[in-house]
Amino acid sequence: MGEILKKAKRIEKRLPENYSIYRNSITGTDNTTYALVRNSGTEKRLYVSGSGAQSFEGEAKSENIKLCPLTWENAQQLMDVFDWLVPSFPSSKPSFGFGDRTGLATPGHKRSLGEHDVFPIFAQQSIREMERTGRTPQDVMNTAVWGVFEEGYREGFAADADHLKTRESIEETAAVGFNMFTCDPSEHVTPEADSMSEVELEEALRKMERGKELLEKYSGRKFTASLPGHGYEFERIFRSNEVKKAIVKYFPAVKFAVDSFDWVSEARKGEFIFEVSVDETETPTTPLEHVFVAKELTERGVDLFSLAPRFVGDIEKGIDYIGDLDRFEEQLKAHAAIARSFGDYRLSLHSGSDKFSIYPYFAEYLGEKVHVKTAGTSYLEAIRLVAEKDPDLFRRIHEFALERFDEDRATYHVETDLSEVPGPGELSDEKLPDLFDRDDPRQVFHVTYGSVLNHRKGTEYVFRDEIKNLLKEYEERHYRLLESHLGHHLDLLTQG
Ligand SMILES: [Zn+2]
Repeated sequence: MGEILKKAKRIEKRLPENYSIYRNSITGTDNTTYALVRNSGTEKRLYVSGSGAQSFEGEAKSENIKLCPLTWENAQQLMDVFDWLVPSFPSSKPSFGFGDRTGLATPGHKRSLGEHDVFPIFAQQSIREMERTGRTPQDVMNTAVWGVFEEGYREGFAADADHLKTRESIEETAAVGFNMFTCDPSEHVTPEADSMSEVELEEALRKMERGKELLEKYSGRKFTASLPGHGYEFERIFRSNEVKKAIVKYFPAVKFAVDSFDWVSEARKGEFIFEVSVDETETPTTPLEHVFVAKELTERGVDLFSLAPRFVGDIEKGIDYIGDLDRFEEQLKAHAAIARSFGDYRLSLHSGSDKFSIYPYFAEYLGEKVHVKTAGTSYLEAIRLVAEKDPDLFRRIHEFALERFDEDRATYHVETDLSEVPGPGELSDEKLPDLFDRDDPRQVFHVTYGSVLNHRKGTEYVFRDEIKNLLKEYEERHYRLLESHLGHHLDLLTQG
């Protein structure tokens, strides 16, 4: 610490007035010192002094000192110097996705790791989220890399291109260095299979290439899977009716996932990890369907890092699990055993924000073989901060969110009761942050994030810049809120 302090003092002397240093970021090579600094206007810069400064674009302060904007070009230069800034891969520990919709949350996310033995995915965003927030894959990578640098976090992190539905989005995210690819074949899933009659299933099967062959392959066959350390055995025989359903429901999705895996292999220069997620389909994935999907994927050469089934019960956005916990536990055991036995991949929980009551089951039955994705809950902490610090701005957002809610909820799975959401004028300033401790208001703000962040009058963003400026102004408070809220998630996930 003494050494860092000395370095900080040395840097401070060379900085223009009103600049401060993020001490955790101070680092160097033989001949160059690097640090993240910020001026009183909350503008951040990369400070570089020494011979390495030549490689960076920025304002020269003296011969070998530069203050450089946090551009992607400069980030890439820095990634060439420090390999801990380049996305890497999790070893044997739970992995956790911290989606960051504001681009300002990564340092808070890093702090939530604390002593938890968890591998972070600091860049994680779906194409849908990027469209809604007006961000690009490059911007998502860029803010994550600078956040990691700010905190001086050297333990490694991954970058997850989430819910990929096209070859184009695979190529676009691979090009900027994402190293985890989550294929979403849900448009190729046929949930109607669950309610089809025998005749309809046969008809659908006849139209499918290889349908008959698959039916013969699985019908009457027994599949077993076990969960080491839990004395749990999964043993089922595929009845032909179940096989038909599984094929009709999932086989086209399997084919799309296989294609996607090949597209990633071509687009990504170097290693990658791959997830298949069917969490956004209407009906739960049964254990037998899971067996079918896993076998068909792995036999076609797909190396699965993780798979996200659609679990039983209601996994709604931004609130705890709704449903029968005993039933959830039973199903999870079966899915966990299958994941162990048919490819040894992780089970992935999407919309993992605030699912506190089911985390202990993941900890118990999956241990390190779990992957969780969160995003909305961090945005809610940001808006909680707005409620705390700027009641006027918050009330405007609140009013707008209520106007937008009916339209925005359509693409989400939420059962919000609007009568439980007070209007913007109904609460005193002090009570505003408490809204974020209640399910129904949380969901209103959760599903409207895109509308709020992207709302424009002419070319000007109505809320986005004000929100971001506030988050910058109260940066430490923002980081602390994230540290504590996400830290609670990690406590539950790693207990036991
Ligand atoms: Zn998802």
